[in-house]
Amino acid sequence: RNVLLIDSTGRGHALADLFQRTDPSVEVFYGPGNSAVAHERIHTVPEVLLGDPASAVRFCQARAIDFVFVSHIDALSTGYVDFLKTSGIPTIGPDRAAARLETSKAFTKSLLKRYGVNTARFEVFDRPEPAKRYIRRLDYDVVVKADGLCEGNGAYVCDDQASALQAVDTIMLTRAHKDAGNRIIVEERLFGLEISIFALFDGKDFLICPAALDYKRSNDGNKGVNCDGMGSLSPHPLADKALYREIGTEILEPLRAAILGEGLNYNGFIYVGAMLCHDGIKVIEINARFGDSEAQVVLPKVQTNFVRLCEGVLQGTLGSLSIETDNKCYCNVVAGQGATIRLDKDGSEIRYRGWPHGDFEVGFPISGLDSLDRRNCHLFFANVHRDAEDCLVTSGGRVLHVTGVGDNCAQAVHHAYTNIEKIRFAGMSYRSDIGVIYEPVMRC
Ligand code: ATP
Repeated sequence: RNVLLIDSTGRGHALADLFQRTDPSVEVFYGPGNSAVAHERIHTVPEVLLGDPASAVRFCQARAIDFVFVSHIDALSTGYVDFLKTSGIPTIGPDRAAARLETSKAFTKSLLKRYGVNTARFEVFDRPEPAKRYIRRLDYDVVVKADGLCEGNGAYVCDDQASALQAVDTIMLTRAHKDAGNRIIVEERLFGLEISIFALFDGKDFLICPAALDYKRSNDGNKGVNCDGMGSLSPHPLADKALYREIGTEILEPLRAAILGEGLNYNGFIYVGAMLCHDGIKVIEINARFGDSEAQVVLPKVQTNFVRLCEGVLQGTLGSLSIETDNKCYCNVVAGQGATIRLDKDGSEIRYRGWPHGDFEVGFPISGLDSLDRRNCHLFFANVHRDAEDCLVTSGGRVLHVTGVGDNCAQAVHHAYTNIEKIRFAGMSYRSDIGVIYEPVMRC
């Protein structure tokens, strides 16, 4: 089989790896992909662009591609899947309308409410003043969110009323997220341990994958800003059989009813971010593709031939299949491009705050990758580039992922850290506490 995978992130690398690992005869074409990913059956195709589905159609016609798997929101949100399907190409991924589950939080919150999925109380506003009046009336803390896509930092988790009012101004008056903040959601702040839930969906049936715990905050101690993820753990420490049953009946079944009821053309992975609260599990967000930082801990667990699962998605026969997983633990630690200082021509210092806090530099050589112990870790490239001298250099904020594998969580964490410590690049930064559980773990 020839598969075209549309992505370019660490998640894309993990998906490409899943295809090749579980199917010895598949050829994965990874577009635009990442030139740093080197495997004899994973081929980077930079001419296939995220913003240009016609480039994918041309490639499919030239290379006898059997199906396309689209997993990047920049492609999904602009109708990539619609274009490919109209061109007669078998494609996995939600169409543009179905991707609204990720691209509009207001759309999703109202859908969840109508179909009886437990979620935090909320109101939607198009203007700042009514939002502020609403906030002043509440006797609980809130989260203020820009409606649209904001690369993981459009949700303001507020400790008091003053910071909530400030968040409204930041989104709607300062326009920190531009048009993505034309509409906002003010929702009740929930407390508990988060859980990232994943299912593979064929339009009528779903298969649930192992859940993960994501570390979204930039700094140790779950402090700092929300970003698109600093690490993750799978299995989730609280995910037992009873919780998976609850996820099935309380979230995935009603979500399926919602997708079918609204006539959304959805297939592929669906990601539900939820909070395990003292009074039950509540949905925080839905993403229309696999999570990035969770893909690197969940997908390595999968043992079932992924090409066959994809064929099940395309044929609508997922209900007769299952996803087999191993019983190992996985811990992903993200290495980012942190703070650096550069001297200007006149000798003055230019300070870069580093990802995800502000500006960052790119182009630093990466060393130590050959000394990783591949028996107990995986390496996934997010923003790594192969330069003209065939050296690997940094090319963005979130640089790479090291996933430790172990028989238990502590061992997986240990293997992630003993391996990432061998890697070096200027300004390299990572959290030192992935694997620590901070939030209350009591459930009633
Ligand atoms: P973006 O559009 O910027 O990508 P996002 O999709 O990351 O935003 P959410 O997933 O809704 O936005 O929120 C991001 C994080 O903020 C959540 O993972 C969670 O940690 C926190 N958060 C969101 N809503 C709540 C809530 N109601 N209570 C507590 N924490 C929340």
